[in-house]
Amino acid sequence: MADLLALSTRVIDSGVADEPVNRITNELSELDDGLAIVESFSHSILVDAGEGLVAFDASHARTGADVVAAIGGWTSTPVTHLVYTHGHADHVGGSPDFAAAYDRMEVVGHRNVDERFDRYAYTNDWNVRINARQFGGVRGDFGMGETPEFIPSTTLRPSHVVDDHDTVTVGDHTIELHHARGETDDHLWGWIPERKWLFTGDFVIWNFPNAGNPQKVQRYPIEWAAALRAMAARGPELLLPAHGLPIEGRERISRVLVEIASALEYLVEEVVDMMNAGEVLDTIVHSVHVPDDVLAKPYLRPLYDEPEFVVRNIWRQFGGWWDGAPSRLKPAPDRALAAELAELAGGANVLVDRAMQLSELGDFRLACHLADLAGWAVPTDAGVHASRAVIYRARRAAETSLMAKGIFAGAARESEAIAAPQP
Ligand SMILES: [Zn+2]
Repeated sequence: MADLLALSTRVIDSGVADEPVNRITNELSELDDGLAIVESFSHSILVDAGEGLVAFDASHARTGADVVAAIGGWTSTPVTHLVYTHGHADHVGGSPDFAAAYDRMEVVGHRNVDERFDRYAYTNDWNVRINARQFGGVRGDFGMGETPEFIPSTTLRPSHVVDDHDTVTVGDHTIELHHARGETDDHLWGWIPERKWLFTGDFVIWNFPNAGNPQKVQRYPIEWAAALRAMAARGPELLLPAHGLPIEGRERISRVLVEIASALEYLVEEVVDMMNAGEVLDTIVHSVHVPDDVLAKPYLRPLYDEPEFVVRNIWRQFGGWWDGAPSRLKPAPDRALAAELAELAGGANVLVDRAMQLSELGDFRLACHLADLAGWAVPTDAGVHASRAVIYRARRAAETSLMAKGIFAGAARESEAIAAPQP
């Protein structure tokens, strides 16, 4: 049993994450009397109320069975309430494994979870595809081939639907559930006032908040920050996140919650001020930055999502899809523009050679524009695509966030398939 609280205290107080904080061991650790965590993707947090267990989150379809086994190794008390902090695949996909082990289980979730599952069914292949790309830069073709269903069709739907707030009573425990939009529009966070235990779901993930995902639907940074402040105002003594380490100590928890909230509030304020001043997206994206010392904090590192993507998400929340450049309102096809520029430059090779130079100088932003133009100008040219692949591999290596790494690795794979087609 890992001493997760000692680890998180050391990491937060030193400000240095010198060992992994997002661990997927599928092992259970007891944190307090009647409270345990199974570290997984996502975690499952268990509250033993004597008459039954309350489980926050079911983990992913691939990890659900291991999580259920870990719970069974801790106690024979059955799970009577499975609470979804939200309907993402890594929080609900393991629910069929819970159902197989526990037959009298209430599933508690926000009203919008049902709608989310309908959307996943409607756009299943799209979701499998984008998740394969998002995680593919790090873990290979995650989700492709093996899992044709984005979430299992047997995923349990909520039987107890929560709107703004509600309580669940099991034995002598009353658990408050509160809805707020943040990473999703169906998020709940939990609070047990008698114990001062806080269940944050993905409002706290030990990474920069996932409020900007480039391939997914709208996120809500303003409401996210407000929810974090509402949590801090209750004075929690123990914080149980759905990813990353649990945190103990009232002052420490408050500091973490407020710092995450402040980072989001800063981004929103900067972007909205510039929008009100009439700036275009290009100016905003290249002007608004979160200070490095903030991004260095162990629970704000841009290893999953990153601030630049959050800036775009804020633009999308308050603006339209148009970025403010008139030529991009009704643009020429990428291929037509690329062919024209390649012709002017003296060939696609000239573009890709310059792209390679820029990449070697570390200017990956500019290098990738030229590499894309070259690739679009000659879509089947093995030499050009071999260079484009090298440039995107180099860029992937230079990025910190999983989301950027995944998309750039996807671009490299696309060109590698053209440069050296498999028989
Ligand atoms: Zn999650």
